[in-house]
Amino acid sequence: MVEQAKHQSNGTYQNLYDESIRNPKGFWARQADLIHWQKPFEKVLDDSKPPFADWYVGGETNLCYNAVDRHLDQLGDKPALIYVSTEVNQEKVYTFRQLHQEVQIAAAMLQKMGVKKGDRVLIYMPMIPEATFAMLACARIGAIHSVVFGGFASHSLASRIEDAKPKVIVSADAGSRAGKAVAYKPLLDEAIARSSYKPGHVLMVNRGLVPFDTVKGRDHDYAALRKELATAKVPVTWLEATDTSYILYTSGTTGKPKGVQRDVGGYAVALAASMKYIFMGEKGKTFFATSDIGWVVGHSYIIYGPLIAGMATVMYEGLPIRPDAGIWWKIVQDHKVSVLFSAPTAVRVLKKQDPAYLSKYDLSSLKALFLAGEPLDETTSDWISGAIGKPIVDNYWQTETGWPILAIQRGVEEMPGKLGSPGVPVFGFNVNVLNEDTAQPCRTNEKGVVAIEGPLPPGCMQTVWGDDERFVKTYWSSFKTRQVYSTFDWGIRDEDGYFFILGRTDDVINVAGHRLGTREIEESISSHPAVAEVAVVGVADQVKGQVAVAFAILKSADAVNETQAKTLEAEIMKVVDSQLGAVARPARVYFVNVLPKTRSGKLLRRSIQAVCEGRDPGDMTTIEDPTALAQIKNAMA
Ligand code: ATP
Ligand code: MG
Repeated sequence: MVEQAKHQSNGTYQNLYDESIRNPKGFWARQADLIHWQKPFEKVLDDSKPPFADWYVGGETNLCYNAVDRHLDQLGDKPALIYVSTEVNQEKVYTFRQLHQEVQIAAAMLQKMGVKKGDRVLIYMPMIPEATFAMLACARIGAIHSVVFGGFASHSLASRIEDAKPKVIVSADAGSRAGKAVAYKPLLDEAIARSSYKPGHVLMVNRGLVPFDTVKGRDHDYAALRKELATAKVPVTWLEATDTSYILYTSGTTGKPKGVQRDVGGYAVALAASMKYIFMGEKGKTFFATSDIGWVVGHSYIIYGPLIAGMATVMYEGLPIRPDAGIWWKIVQDHKVSVLFSAPTAVRVLKKQDPAYLSKYDLSSLKALFLAGEPLDETTSDWISGAIGKPIVDNYWQTETGWPILAIQRGVEEMPGKLGSPGVPVFGFNVNVLNEDTAQPCRTNEKGVVAIEGPLPPGCMQTVWGDDERFVKTYWSSFKTRQVYSTFDWGIRDEDGYFFILGRTDDVINVAGHRLGTREIEESISSHPAVAEVAVVGVADQVKGQVAVAFAILKSADAVNETQAKTLEAEIMKVVDSQLGAVARPARVYFVNVLPKTRSGKLLRRSIQAVCEGRDPGDMTTIEDPTALAQIKNAMA
């Protein structure tokens, strides 16, 4: 099914891309016109201290102003924030004018608690409008927000409190998952107790879901303050382009999370450019990213990107299959969503449901479905594009970059995509595939490390919060001969310039001297028609060093008996044999109902591997379903 057509750029993409690499300063000076500058910048880029890159030096702007105030004249009475919750069965629409007021109220609350420019505010909240207000309020007054995903437990939360040292924490009594309230406050109290640093104030949104204890003098009620400050006017604080807008910790799939620190001006420009050239965002239309504000996709494409582009943004609290698998498509229909952004993991969840839900609603407003966050296998991509009849646009990026590195940039030029490939380099990203030892570019179709030549374009991380040395050491020191940014992902570039991501550099297994990417084996197993999802890990083996072991979820919900499982296992091994060769054949294929993943949908391969080898799986606070590891253990037994 791989598209055979050569990459036929009519030149538009290639010209734009080439200019962005050849003359980054000229290119990004022009893109800067996409946003409002209170004071023009003096220097487009200061890269005198590589690998650090300061964009738009001397310029003054504000993320909140660009997201909200700037649209008041034209879009004041048009929707800005569309809150849909299938958890508490609520829907609320805020116009730009209403959002403007709510943000000022929230900003006034923070100011009342002494928050000033540069102070940190930690946001530990479910997907409710107040979370958006709080983020934008921080941006408005120059406070640095650090959103911590609501699913994290006290241990992870405590380490983030310790690291970010917030003056105020904004939280809520509870989130809700599958209709069940999940208390936040006890976890927050416990986290604060564990942390040696103590925040001065806690601002609590009381949703009335779970009663909680209030600490006198420290905890404040959002609703009461909102009443008191209902007409507050809080002017925008103009910030240096290079000031810090937020800290966001990576999901920690590969170890200790890093506090990714982002700027103000470069981020605003990068998002505005991405909305135009990648996401085909149009002012006045609706954008729906199904992620969570706790992740980078939530920051860039639930909050800032769409609003900067003058779009309404959907904030959805709920699961993709509740009340039924039609819910996303109903939202698309009801709110005339023009751009939908989700993750392959969520699509795989839908794949297990009745496909009739996908054709039940009017999707005529929808231009494309964007997917990011993990590899998009061909089967899943084929399935969803067939089911909804819309273009599927894979895009590859990281918390660190803040916006896509690889994508077909449909807003620039309609180029054909290739199944299994997130596309071609995005303007501004000088992406290469490098030999891990020599740092020399690999040949066409030769596997190497996906790396980016500095300086990174606007919008990427400035540094690791409070730790410049860790930034340089972690990201820029993989190659001995020169300083290049490593993505820590394997990839290849084909003869047409399309990239393929082959998994993380630390997800490699070594079978009798053959180095195999777990992702390649997973891709092969996924092509078996009965398989919905699969994880492959390398497990220590006395003879071969390591062997591949697969854990698969079947499409059919019906349990398989032992004979059926044996047959399926043999079939799957045959598929791998024929596609990749016998060395890649998994030693065993086990069938499970759920795989251990982070709450952002990323496979916890290291934990699976640890369980398989009888080791401790490590810190499991980010795990989506704690029973998943038990299933792995049982399957092996
Ligand atoms: P940590 O860095 O703490 O281990 P993480 O890497 O899982 O966490 P993210 O920044 O959210 O946290 O994930 C980025 C990674 O996700 C990429 O480096 C890549 O491995 C994977 N990824 C993202 N999008 C795609 C995509 N479209 N195709 C393939 N892989 C993708
Ligand atoms: Mg990472």
